[in-house]
Amino acid sequence: MNVFFKKIIAWIYFQYLRIFDTTYTIEHVEDPVERPKNKYLYVIGTELEPWQVEFLCPCGCSDKIVLPVNNETSPRWNIEIKEGIPTLSPSVFRSKGCRSHFFMRRGRVEWCLN
Ligand SMILES: [Zn+2]
Repeated sequence: MNVFFKKIIAWIYFQYLRIFDTTYTIEHVEDPVERPKNKYLYVIGTELEPWQVEFLCPCGCSDKIVLPVNNETSPRWNIEIKEGIPTLSPSVFRSKGCRSHFFMRRGRVEWCLN
């Protein structure tokens, strides 16, 4: 294969990664955010003791999802941050609005078919 085609394929692959495969970026904040940015996961509280995470619903409905992550509330979620990349458990299942159901694993949304 000549160099020109290799470059085109590399460019297409890069565009694919940029558009479809970006992971969520963690941002530590002190207070709830009014206008969350797409593909950002806001962690509220201290780094050692976060108490809430917020992010835009990944379906595109533009609702803000708010999840408690401390140990005293129920329901609550666990957040694990490895090298700046978040994993939430269990899955997020919205009971109102768009009713999205998904996991966030290693900074990526994995949809559940309900
Ligand atoms: Zn949604």
